[in-house]
Amino acid sequence: MTTERPAVLQPEMPATRWGDPAHASDLPDGVRDLVGMVFPLHDTPAREDVTVPAPRLPDDLVAGLRALLGDGHVLTDDATRRLRTRGKSTPDLLRQRTGDLGDAPDVVVRPGGHDDVAAVLAWAQEHRVAVVPFGGGTAVTGGLVADPTGLAGVVSLDLGRMRGLLAVDPVSSTATLEPGLRGPEAEALLAEHGLMLGHYPQSFEYATVGGFAATRSSGQSSAGYGRFDAMVVGLRVATPVGEVRLGVSPANASGPDLRELFLGSEGAFGVITEVTVRVRPLPEVKEYEGWRWPSFAAGADAMRVLAQADLLPTVLRLSDEAETAINLADPESIGGEGGADGEGPGCLMITGYEGTPAAVAAKKAAVTAALTGLGGTALGPEPGEAWAAGRFGAPYLRDSLLDVGVLVETLETVTFWSNRENLYTRVKSALEAALPGAMVLCHVSHVYATGCSLYFTVAAPGGEDPLATWLPAKAAACEAIVAAGASITHHHAVGTDHKPYLTAEIGELGAEVLRAVKRAVDPAGILNPGVLVP
Ligand SMILES: Cc1cc2nc3c(=O)[nH]c(=O)nc-3n(C[C@H](O)[C@H](O)[C@H](O)COP(=O)(O)OP(=O)(O)OC[C@H]3O[C@@H](n4cnc5c(N)ncnc54)[C@H](O)[C@@H]3O)c2cc1C
Repeated sequence: MTTERPAVLQPEMPATRWGDPAHASDLPDGVRDLVGMVFPLHDTPAREDVTVPAPRLPDDLVAGLRALLGDGHVLTDDATRRLRTRGKSTPDLLRQRTGDLGDAPDVVVRPGGHDDVAAVLAWAQEHRVAVVPFGGGTAVTGGLVADPTGLAGVVSLDLGRMRGLLAVDPVSSTATLEPGLRGPEAEALLAEHGLMLGHYPQSFEYATVGGFAATRSSGQSSAGYGRFDAMVVGLRVATPVGEVRLGVSPANASGPDLRELFLGSEGAFGVITEVTVRVRPLPEVKEYEGWRWPSFAAGADAMRVLAQADLLPTVLRLSDEAETAINLADPESIGGEGGADGEGPGCLMITGYEGTPAAVAAKKAAVTAALTGLGGTALGPEPGEAWAAGRFGAPYLRDSLLDVGVLVETLETVTFWSNRENLYTRVKSALEAALPGAMVLCHVSHVYATGCSLYFTVAAPGGEDPLATWLPAKAAACEAIVAAGASITHHHAVGTDHKPYLTAEIGELGAEVLRAVKRAVDPAGILNPGVLVP
């Protein structure tokens, strides 16, 4: 068994912003002027003079944690507690920006391995203290906001020290990873073995392997490599009442697959301490290109045909007319309708191919023939390469827009192909009705033979109180999703934000099953209380 840890950690994200502080920037003047033609702008800098509420956990309990983990791994200073408060949704950022730290954990602990985690959970059960697993802190649905009612306080269990590559089985194409590895770190360790995971969510730079599993994340290459939960072959989970190890074989008929209970369990059923994943050889070739469709419906139909013919490239996404207009707009025409050929922008599809040269050539030829036959127009590599180069950039732009009073947020859902148009129309209408003057953009982000997910981006005037502007709009979108008979989340997870809508999707008995599992693995109710379980 090997234990390899990457040498360099990404810099810590600021409390009020996304990502690497070195990449943060103001809106360039020209862009600011153009955005100002669409939305009223007013500078809204984050408050600096914030106060972190005093910790509630008594000193003797903190001393107990220090005895378990050592002084250096039990942190109570304000700065650390602030950085472990909530995640990175727009409401999370807005609350941080206005100095609302009401959900700050009392203490942050940094376990070094599974046994440390198990010890903290046993301690927390004994002393009735909530434990919130913290991976990358990129949660966007309130998964890091525990409800401490009836408990002595909240411990943020920061998995950042657990960043090892524990084992590689090149014969079976599996690798076992510790949960705190961020996306780039996991890929760098696997690359030393000529292997990769191929999981690239937009939060790739900061989200962790444990977080991917705990939220059932889906990446931008899901058409080719699948969702993260589909990559997981084994899990080790620490609970307050013992350990669960799952995945002795690639597949089996040994009753219901219990891995599914812990994938997507968002820290409410246990702490994932090891994840065994299917890995692949590093691709020798990566090619990305663009296609144009006359309408969103025509492009989506083409995606359906590809998926149902088992002819999916590695990357496949399709922007609606509004998102295409923004993507293709040069600075002079931002927000306008004019495309380069004067016929309107149509809809931009990105296709990407990764693998050996022979596999890429064969797949590309087959997909090209199919898309051409379906009425698509090949745009060549430029749009695909532009997408690939900017694929992790949008969250930095969100911060720059929040700085000038423009509200920006995203949400996503998933349904069957036959319901796609209905879902799209309902959610877009709900957002436009709730947010006068908003731009609502959408793309098909992930496809299956039977359906697809829709990912909406909203930009709107933030007004005096952007949080109060957004929350009713988000509720209206969630209600539209439920009314359309779709899922409340495809890959962002349930957290606390989507919990009110979960029972409508899984039924009262389904909710009771979740509560029964919770009682079995967490009888004292200390694991991320308030998250996921209705
Ligand atoms: C800008 C941005 C872009 C995003 N893009 C995508 C995307 O493309 N695809 C996508 O799927 N998601 C995306 N997300 C959502 C988020 O990145 C994912 O949910 C991600 O999987 C969370 O990983 P994390 O390590 O940051 O987890 P955290 O945010 O730390 O935690 C998420 C939840 O999982 C729990 N948890 C974390 N680690 C563990 C563990 N080891 N054991 C048990 N529970 C644990 C936490 O308690 C919490 O409930 C995006 C988020 C942002 C802010």
